[in-house]
Amino acid sequence: MNDEGKNILSDIPGACGFSNGAHGPNDSACPVTRYRSEFVPSRLIDEARSGWFPRGIRHCLGCELCSPGPGVSFPSCADDLVLEGGHREGYIPRAFGGALDAVWSLQIAGNSRQKRLDWITNDIQITNENESGKVALFVGCAPYYDALLADEIGFRATDESRAAVEMLNSVGVSPVVLPDEVCCGGDRIHAGDRDGFIALGTRNRDLLKERGVKTIVTTCDDCRYTLGNRYPGRIPGWDFKVIRLADYLVERGGRLAFMPTEQVVAIQPPDRYSDPNSVESIRKILTKIPNLITKELEPGLPSTFGSWGQFDAISKRLETDYLKAAECTLAESVLVPGTRMLVRLMEGRRPGSWEETSIKIKGFYGFLAEWHTVALEFTGA
Ligand code: SF4
Repeated sequence: MNDEGKNILSDIPGACGFSNGAHGPNDSACPVTRYRSEFVPSRLIDEARSGWFPRGIRHCLGCELCSPGPGVSFPSCADDLVLEGGHREGYIPRAFGGALDAVWSLQIAGNSRQKRLDWITNDIQITNENESGKVALFVGCAPYYDALLADEIGFRATDESRAAVEMLNSVGVSPVVLPDEVCCGGDRIHAGDRDGFIALGTRNRDLLKERGVKTIVTTCDDCRYTLGNRYPGRIPGWDFKVIRLADYLVERGGRLAFMPTEQVVAIQPPDRYSDPNSVESIRKILTKIPNLITKELEPGLPSTFGSWGQFDAISKRLETDYLKAAECTLAESVLVPGTRMLVRLMEGRRPGSWEETSIKIKGFYGFLAEWHTVALEFTGA
């Protein structure tokens, strides 16, 4: 690496708020350090300050648990470091044996139309393909997770997408759903593939602008993180409001009503990754379901398991820790409000993989749609 490359890397921690003398990352909060003793966030920052690419940073899940305070984000620093130095290593993650990488490559090429809206049934309403709309539902890679995993894990990720449209319809919104939306590109950052990331982001921007969209709603925290945190400043003209569906429902929430259920469910308490604005929307929405008992997992567990390229034995252990913590609540099921996290937990549970836990795993939005009632909706309940 030449001196210029070293200087760029050494400047990144300071530009991200980790200047000498400022609070560094909180090492003891890092879930990865629990299983990789050599992975210490503050040491990775020191390594970058010396001008070398801290290779271990690839193990960062991006969960924000070690970020020391407002405006200073370890994952944001990790993104910049990987984009600047990671590509030089020739690191090539292979998600699902390269299947998802092939999808992204075809999407970047943009020569073929996708067939990704089969899950939209006649009982839910989206904006017609030739019409504009202010609110879009970003579906992400859910249709591809269906194709790759649904038979093995017994769950279709697009069930969460369909539930999302149903919930949006219930608050009076028929969202735009793009027939040729492309991957958010978050995993391209992890791969150090700046060009791929920009290509995907630019394509999404253009498709959303063509339809007149102003607000993007997501059911996936990882998509929300990329669209809301990584696109601004990297994708020119990216000026959309990006919001988690639960937060959007709370914003519009006077019209939500639910049937009673005696179930006991577990949720993860909000943290900076899943709830950066401290809206506490998951808690608020569940209090609207009569008779439901909600338990919370111990705090400090990650709200993301990182990119598909980080699909390894350590991330599997972290997923199992999450489910064990959910079981400790004695709830019947754990409600997961992020599509990719949901798919990963279900994938980890399938026969032949990790089967140490038995608590039911449910999508948060599917659960809402199951208990949502239209009859009470417009009665002021
Ligand atoms: S963002 Fe999460 S995984 Fe990454 S270093 Fe911080 S605590 Fe560890």
